[in-house]
Amino acid sequence: MIYDNHNRPITYLRLAVTDRCNLRCFYCMPEEGIKYLPKHQVLTYEEMERLVRVLAQLGVQKVRVTGGEPFVRAGLMDFLHRLAEINGLNDISLTTNGVLTAPHVDALAALGVKSVNLSLDTLDRERFRKITRRDELPAVLKTLDALLSVGIQTKINAVVMDGQNTQDLIPLVDMARTLPVDVRFIEEMPFNGEGSHYPILHWTHKRIIDEIRAHFPDLQKLPDSPFSTSAAYQVPGHKGTIGVIAAFSRTFCGTCNRIRLTAQGTLKTCLYDNGVLDVRALLRSGASDEELTAAFLQAFSQRVANGFEAEQQRDTVTESMATIGG
Ligand code: SAM
Ligand code: SF4
Repeated sequence: MIYDNHNRPITYLRLAVTDRCNLRCFYCMPEEGIKYLPKHQVLTYEEMERLVRVLAQLGVQKVRVTGGEPFVRAGLMDFLHRLAEINGLNDISLTTNGVLTAPHVDALAALGVKSVNLSLDTLDRERFRKITRRDELPAVLKTLDALLSVGIQTKINAVVMDGQNTQDLIPLVDMARTLPVDVRFIEEMPFNGEGSHYPILHWTHKRIIDEIRAHFPDLQKLPDSPFSTSAAYQVPGHKGTIGVIAAFSRTFCGTCNRIRLTAQGTLKTCLYDNGVLDVRALLRSGASDEELTAAFLQAFSQRVANGFEAEQQRDTVTESMATIGG
């Protein structure tokens, strides 16, 4: 197990397999004019597999495959099969918008995918279309049904946006009444690909909980899982649970065990940093596994303490969450 310079273990990799997406969520990407990475700048599956092997030897046990939308990249299922064979990994998970996912759900269950995070900000078709700029809510709900029918642990990720979907908070909480899902509300972050509106956070984790509690006064705090970014709650009698992710307030940095590899092969040791290592350049210059290992260890030994420190060390955030992977 590898520990960073703040004594936090590094056990969890978030791997963005593409920056491309079939939705245009306004908090993540501009509607038009997105400059996707040219293909040669995106890591190949072979490169990603090698990096995951090296990181697994260093103690990474969990990989969450994300994007962009992972299912828009051809060959994803084959890649997941190869990941499933890597020694040391005991958890392969996915984050998806659910538009193209339903037909793959049986295969995901068969290869042992433990949990899927499904992004769903509203249950209202018109608001879904407005937020994502695409009319795909029925496809996403089909994926949700499929995930539940095969018993994959399903988390619903909803970004809480002032004036956009706050009326959906209670209907989304209510999904957990009958469904065994973990509905997680995420504070909006500034990664919208434009850098033009750095949000003043109207909906903090505290306000989100206050709003839920106003409708469900017996909402109970549950113990949080170690290293979880989500504060867990439950309404007594509900099958599922509720979570709140203080992604903007950054209350969880002290136990952060995660690193990120962006689609272009940049290592981020904090969501808010500007990239700390160009792994793609290193790979393509012919680095050996030992050299890759040494470079990773060096980066882990210089990790920032928290997202505020990371932000201070860079210019304004302008990238899209689709390049980071969430
Ligand atoms: N396309 C997939 C999806 O939407 O689930 C995976 C990638 S997406 C970038 C990963 C997560 O980041 C999603 O749950 C999305 O809601 C979240 N996200 C994107 N932009 C965000 C922002 N500005 N603030 C907070 N969460 C954001
Ligand atoms: Fe695509 Fe996910 Fe970004 Fe929405 S949040 S635009 S689905 S990458």
